[in-house]
Amino acid sequence: MNHDEDPRQPTHEQRMEGSRIINWLDEQEDGLITQLRGYVDTNSGLDNPTGRGEILDDLQKRYEQLGFVCRRLRHEQGFVHLIAARPSTKPDATKVMLLGHVDTVFNSDSVFLTFQREGDWASGPGVGDMKGGLVVTQALLGGLKQVGRLGDFDWVVVHNSDEEIGSPTSREVIERLAADRDVCLGFEIGRKSGAVVRSRAGVGAFFINVRGRAAHAGMDPHLGASAIVSAAELAQRIAALANPSLQTSVNIGKITGGERRNIVPDACKLEVDVRVRSADEATRVEQALRAACEELVVPGTTAEVFGHMSRPPWQRTPASDRLVHHFQDVARDLGVTLEAEDTGGGADTNFAGSMGIPTIDALGPVGQGAHTHDERIKLHSLITRAKLCAIALLRWEKADRAEA
Ligand SMILES: [Zn+2]
Repeated sequence: MNHDEDPRQPTHEQRMEGSRIINWLDEQEDGLITQLRGYVDTNSGLDNPTGRGEILDDLQKRYEQLGFVCRRLRHEQGFVHLIAARPSTKPDATKVMLLGHVDTVFNSDSVFLTFQREGDWASGPGVGDMKGGLVVTQALLGGLKQVGRLGDFDWVVVHNSDEEIGSPTSREVIERLAADRDVCLGFEIGRKSGAVVRSRAGVGAFFINVRGRAAHAGMDPHLGASAIVSAAELAQRIAALANPSLQTSVNIGKITGGERRNIVPDACKLEVDVRVRSADEATRVEQALRAACEELVVPGTTAEVFGHMSRPPWQRTPASDRLVHHFQDVARDLGVTLEAEDTGGGADTNFAGSMGIPTIDALGPVGQGAHTHDERIKLHSLITRAKLCAIALLRWEKADRAEA
């Protein structure tokens, strides 16, 4: 390699490889849309382990055709995760992790069940979140295989089936497999603007059961201890833990309690959502929330806390910024301006990103309306995202070495 050249400028050989990938992917669009339609028409909601398993079966078959070794991790709660790996024979191969979940928020009794196409738009449950991303993953690997470069990378792919409920059974495996990776790519739905995600807030979900003592509101009010009054006061103190200047938000999203007007209520429940940008804030808020529950103002009431910070904050680092800039350079070379966003939403990339692994997310197709009945994507972006990822990975090795 000529060390005098600009490390960001692709070599002639890389440009030729890039053109071959682009040409090949341009011919795959119909096949990718058919693959996506099959996934979207297969319901994979929380109540549908069979549907999730069918999608994993199809993915596994495709990974095996690409020379990956696949295994399934089965959890007691019925969640099955697919791990596909393809080690490289090259000792200095870039170690890449690809993340994509097969579950959606739409259960089998949803009225939103099928793939619909209107020109370049497609809608359907999970079309963007994130079955489209599963298709992009396959396409980028196919493109690299086409130019004989698949074996230049050490691959680990995780397709889990519990992301939409916070990845309780797949978190451990994602963290374990992420530990030695050089790069992690997540394939959540791309932003409407086409932007990718370069950091995510940490997410906490807390459920607080306040207990008091029931009594007749007219005859014996002095014998009661109102769980509602206690919970209302507690809610004020918990909400005050927010710190907008640090982008820490605390939302009491649901409060339920009491039985009827003339009974002092003996139970009240709070559901609290916490978003933080740093590990310090995660610790501060969780400790203060638990302390607040120990110090109730209404005598005779108690509070029990369930839940935790389920996704740690993924913050930007110099290494992750370098990866993002690299993708932006490649996008520019492909004629696209690629923006990068920091988001308050949590996903599986929180795990790799919080470990300091250079990570990018929202590399799935460009779209909008995730988790609604208006979920839709631009079909052509399946191809443009696959081109971007394949070519960016090919050129990443060079940029990495040039800096070393
Ligand atoms: Zn989702």
